[in-house]
Amino acid sequence: MFKNFIRTSMKLELNDQQKMIQKMVREFAEKEIAPIAAELDEKAEYPTKTLQKMAKLGLLGIIIPTEYGGAGLDTISYAIAIEEISRKCASTGVVSSVHNSLTAWPIIKYGTDDQKKKYLPILAKGEKIGAFAGTEPNAGSDLGAMQTTAVLKGNKYIINGDKTFITSGPEAGIIIVFAVTDKEAGAKGISAFIVESDFKGYKVGSIFEKLGINASKTSELIFEEMEVPKENLLGKEGDGFKIALSTLDGGRIGIACQAVGIAQAALDESIEYSKQRQQFGKPIAKFQAIQWMIAEMATRIEASRFLTLNAAYKKDIGERYGKEAAMAKLFASETAMECVIKGVQIHGGYGYTKEYTIERLFRDAKITEIYEGTSEVQKMVIAGSLLR
Ligand SMILES: Cc1cc2nc3c(=O)[nH]c(=O)nc-3n(C[C@H](O)[C@H](O)[C@H](O)COP(=O)(O)OP(=O)(O)OC[C@H]3O[C@@H](n4cnc5c(N)ncnc54)[C@H](O)[C@@H]3O)c2cc1C
Repeated sequence: MFKNFIRTSMKLELNDQQKMIQKMVREFAEKEIAPIAAELDEKAEYPTKTLQKMAKLGLLGIIIPTEYGGAGLDTISYAIAIEEISRKCASTGVVSSVHNSLTAWPIIKYGTDDQKKKYLPILAKGEKIGAFAGTEPNAGSDLGAMQTTAVLKGNKYIINGDKTFITSGPEAGIIIVFAVTDKEAGAKGISAFIVESDFKGYKVGSIFEKLGINASKTSELIFEEMEVPKENLLGKEGDGFKIALSTLDGGRIGIACQAVGIAQAALDESIEYSKQRQQFGKPIAKFQAIQWMIAEMATRIEASRFLTLNAAYKKDIGERYGKEAAMAKLFASETAMECVIKGVQIHGGYGYTKEYTIERLFRDAKITEIYEGTSEVQKMVIAGSLLR
């Protein structure tokens, strides 16, 4: 009955292809991502080489249809891949999530045939990395308050404005940019554009120093009389806000997966450490206080993973999934925070030092409660859906 995600009575199980993807990405992440994650974090170095290797495995075009050079896989496969990548490096996890779900997906969903033919193969091959430029200095949770403008002049839109906090900002080659085309129409006056970083008037602004996900590079983007060909309008004029919200619904599945990956890593590290660390003549794993923390972490992680896969499954079968994606992101991000706090506690003083991976996980987890809609915004989405 269910094509992608086999459910028999109360059992939830991945199908054979999804299990194969999980095994492949897990092995790749252990071999190629884990050994360099701490160094990339310390140097705030973008994972360029890893992304090239991921492109060869099809991981930069997971959801892109095969006719455009992608792997043509379902959202569940995408979710599994982002979790496994984030388990070893949350920075690489968010870069690939933004590339797939915030850049490729809106082109797949709203692009013209020409736009798909032009941009999707480039994204699938990883020739250019994708970004999503919605947030502005005065428009974060309230994205509809954006001030960047786009004015049609002849066969080009002229875009002026500043975007901020853009993941992959300094590295991206293809960026989905949102701007106001009709000031009087409020949110219905916002339009979406496919922008290339070599368009005239495109500039990368300041790069932020951050608490965590240091290798993901977050920057301002500045548009000064930027010239965008008319044919790069995504959807119709005025569709931009709808495109942004529906794209973020899917993006939240990716961030929920990132959070599950971070939480799982915190559990992995805590189990290993608690079996090795001896106090009072025995491994600390023998103490009930430690066992309870491990049990609570594992339980929340399992629940987060099911919520996340459920949202992905709903997306795959064409049902509404905005509420489920918001629930998954809310719960998984809070779980990630809870697990890293407990993880550092289990590691004691050592967990507070850069000698142990749990310190990086502690710093990386917080952002999952903030971007692609804060936890407060997720609650607004969930309540809005229930009280409609
Ligand atoms: C590392 C990083 C990467 C990012 N990547 C991207 C990206 O690639 N593309 C992009 O477009 N953006 C990106 N963002 C921006 C991110 O999505 C925003 O930071 C986020 O949506 C919150 O907006 P804000 O920071 O302006 O906070 P604000 O909207 O100013 O919120 C401040 C506080 O007020 C609360 N709040 C606001 N409104 C309400 C309300 N109505 N009810 C209750 N509480 C409310 C918020 O929950 C929060 O706690 C990124 C941010 C960071 C830090």
